[in-house]
Amino acid sequence: MIKKMTSKMAIELEDRYGAHNYHPLPVVLAKGQGVFMWDVEGKRYYDFLSAYSAVNQGHCHPKIVNALVQQAGILELTSRAFYNDVLGTYEKFVTEYFGFDKVLPMNTGAEGDETALKLCRKWAYKVKGIPENRAKIICCENNFHGRTISVISMSTDPVARNEFGPFTPGFVIIPYNDLKALEKALNDPEIAGFLVEPIQGEAGVMVPDEGYLKKAFDLCKSKNVLFIADEVQTGIGRTGKLLACNWENIKPDILILGKALSGGVYPVSAVLADDPVMLTIKPGEHGSTFGGNPIAGKVAIAALEVIKEEKLAENAYNMGLIFREELKNINSPMIELVRGKGLLNAAVIKPMNGKTAWDVCLKMRDNGLLAKPTHDHIIRFAPPLIINEAQIRESVEIIKVSLKAFE
Ligand code: PLP
Repeated sequence: MIKKMTSKMAIELEDRYGAHNYHPLPVVLAKGQGVFMWDVEGKRYYDFLSAYSAVNQGHCHPKIVNALVQQAGILELTSRAFYNDVLGTYEKFVTEYFGFDKVLPMNTGAEGDETALKLCRKWAYKVKGIPENRAKIICCENNFHGRTISVISMSTDPVARNEFGPFTPGFVIIPYNDLKALEKALNDPEIAGFLVEPIQGEAGVMVPDEGYLKKAFDLCKSKNVLFIADEVQTGIGRTGKLLACNWENIKPDILILGKALSGGVYPVSAVLADDPVMLTIKPGEHGSTFGGNPIAGKVAIAALEVIKEEKLAENAYNMGLIFREELKNINSPMIELVRGKGLLNAAVIKPMNGKTAWDVCLKMRDNGLLAKPTHDHIIRFAPPLIINEAQIRESVEIIKVSLKAFE
């Protein structure tokens, strides 16, 4: 007889056979639907992480799952050695949706960032006229763009970097939300691009000053430098607009998307740019076996349609307002600060009686809500964008009861 999987068994298996590159909250999930997930014992939780903002459309959205299932039974993968009958339709759809000439399809966020770096360098040599191998890209302290060697070469997080060198050269790191530092760095004629997260997600939902993005964009324009927005986490409705860049009415030269581009059902990322940038890359110079496959195309179209059909950006905006207000109203001495935009929010936690953000997350788990600390003392709250007001209020009640347990 096959033994029924328990939480204990699942955790032991992962611990024994999986690399130890993660430190998950001890909860073993077996099912998801909408804003909820269930563990293997059948206990229900509010999902307040949404797989790091991949599941914006809610778990197992029927329209997106259907697109996946349908296409999987027709044609799954051709590679880009041949044309397929979905890719062009998807490319037309996604470029019109976001207002760019062209898209370069990839799979993960980190690959999207890698693609943007390559595209920026190519443009630097072909168009801007920077001498070959001299191009530099400005990035920000405390950024998070993924885990590849080049991407962590931009990182200032010792945990992400230590003992993974040597690193990729060509990056200039400046403080985030610091226009003076950007202006100074832009004086170097070998600067090709400025890569920035409109809100730094992994850093703990760091929202820059109003006007920062627009002024940074204008500074880049004045120096013929590409403004590259990593909206892998902030994009697709999460902050209350389709893109976080929409808050300041800027259209980046290069836009990187991932995560919710598929509603979390499939790894789909994309880099969007207009022709003068995108057409600098020629056949054979970049690609991916899975990038642009027919399943990804169908899934992404469905996922993006859901965002508009269900007005999820608007809902994120409205629910975000209620959530932040209610969270502040909890008046817990453990909440030092609440910040965020739309449904990308965080609370800075002050440890009390030896209890930290990790303990708060464990207590919230016990009470039926899942969130994860980032950087020890910050808890990110990012539920699926389909959450309604009653669910927001119930969730805040769970957070309140959990915090009160430590007073
Ligand atoms: N860029 C940003 C802003 C992210 O938040 C992340 C992941 O959290 C990534 C890139 C990397 O995405 P992936 O894990 O799909 O490679």
